[in-house]
Amino acid sequence: MACVSFPYDAPVSQTLFDRASLVTPGGVNSPVRAFRAVGGTPRFMVSGTGPYLTDADGREYVDLVCSWGPMILGHSHPEVIAAVQEAVARGTSFGTPGEGEVALAEEIVARIEPVEQVRLVSSGTEATMSAIRLARGFTGRAKVVKFAGCYHGHVDALLAAAGSGVATFGLPDTPGVTGAQAGDTIVLPYNDLEAVRTAFAAHPGEIACVITEASPGNMGVVPPLDGFNAGLKEICAANGALYISDEVMTGFRTSKAGWFGVDGVRPDLMTFGKVMGGGFPAAAFGGRADVMAHLAPVGPVYQAGTLSGNPVATAAGLAQLRLLDDAAYAKIDAVSAEIQALVSEAFTKEGVAHTVSAASNMFSVFFTDQPVRNYEDAKKQEAFRFTAFFHSMLAQGVYLPPSAFESWFVSTTHDTQAVERIAAALPAAARAASEATA
Ligand SMILES: *Cc1c(COP(=O)(O)O)cnc(C)c1O
Repeated sequence: MACVSFPYDAPVSQTLFDRASLVTPGGVNSPVRAFRAVGGTPRFMVSGTGPYLTDADGREYVDLVCSWGPMILGHSHPEVIAAVQEAVARGTSFGTPGEGEVALAEEIVARIEPVEQVRLVSSGTEATMSAIRLARGFTGRAKVVKFAGCYHGHVDALLAAAGSGVATFGLPDTPGVTGAQAGDTIVLPYNDLEAVRTAFAAHPGEIACVITEASPGNMGVVPPLDGFNAGLKEICAANGALYISDEVMTGFRTSKAGWFGVDGVRPDLMTFGKVMGGGFPAAAFGGRADVMAHLAPVGPVYQAGTLSGNPVATAAGLAQLRLLDDAAYAKIDAVSAEIQALVSEAFTKEGVAHTVSAASNMFSVFFTDQPVRNYEDAKKQEAFRFTAFFHSMLAQGVYLPPSAFESWFVSTTHDTQAVERIAAALPAAARAASEATA
């Protein structure tokens, strides 16, 4: 476990990647994992414990991705693993209702006050797709407002100016999404209430909902300006549209009650995923009971899932949520602030223009000293500096998200030792960023 800077090659990962690339497009099952934005060989991980990941070449990394958020208690948390083992021993799927899904729904409803009823699904994509369908079914309207740089999963209608992998690859639109599927989507600049008012004025009685990341983390971390979410809520209410807050990333992470716990703006519908699955495919959408009553089998809006409310996934999610008390969030917030300060200090020492942008314990670095309020601003950063920084950190045993447009994530297990390893790697990585050329 010594803090050594190890050689840069990864022969076993490379062999696995070669095998993978023959049978899977790009060798990966989710594009950002392929390292295309930063180049090099994606690391194939074999195990994780607390804040550490071990790759197929036997190298250990401090993990600042945490599976893109879900592993908020660190890897292989003993109580989550025990809950999973206990559930698995009873069978893995019944296709019937079960107590675990009731308990998980009760936990969500208890923690997030605007959620009166909730339905479980298996991915964040499914959650936003279903919430949009429900909003359209409830209002009888077709149009959806979303913001450039906000990612809501790979829902056809929402893959217009989306962030995350789409931001990384610079695909403004994806082939395979037809004009009809995206034609009812209105894409507006983030943090711009005037643009939202203008859109509603241009389409009276046509907009079903506004969907927004509660605090965006898929164009890098770009928090809402003061009053932005409240303004969205107000405009929606005044125009008979629903305000959908996508908390797939922020939910149960930015506080006990997610971003709602931070800004207190009451959405009509909310979506969840990531943390609530405890590392398993579990996600949810929920909100106002009168809106949720439009879902089948009570109402006419169809929505279903063979593995929805899966007993193993719900056991993992419930065990994780029950461990996430005030003390856990205090710990995550503190270690996040500590790492943010170290990162900023290292760049300042090397004279690298940067902004550490944070929303509670989520944060990312923009290589610019200009304010970043939306996707256009985010894209102006010197992303080539991130590539050099990323590879230096990786070579020194720190695993960052392989893109300048993704949030960094920490867990309750990022302790002094993990922070010291990050601190030790930062000076050389900051220098690499400062010396990088476009
Ligand atoms: C990750 C994410 C999604 C998609 O969730 P998947 O489980 O990957 O389908 C949707 N919305 C936001 C805000 C996300 O961060």
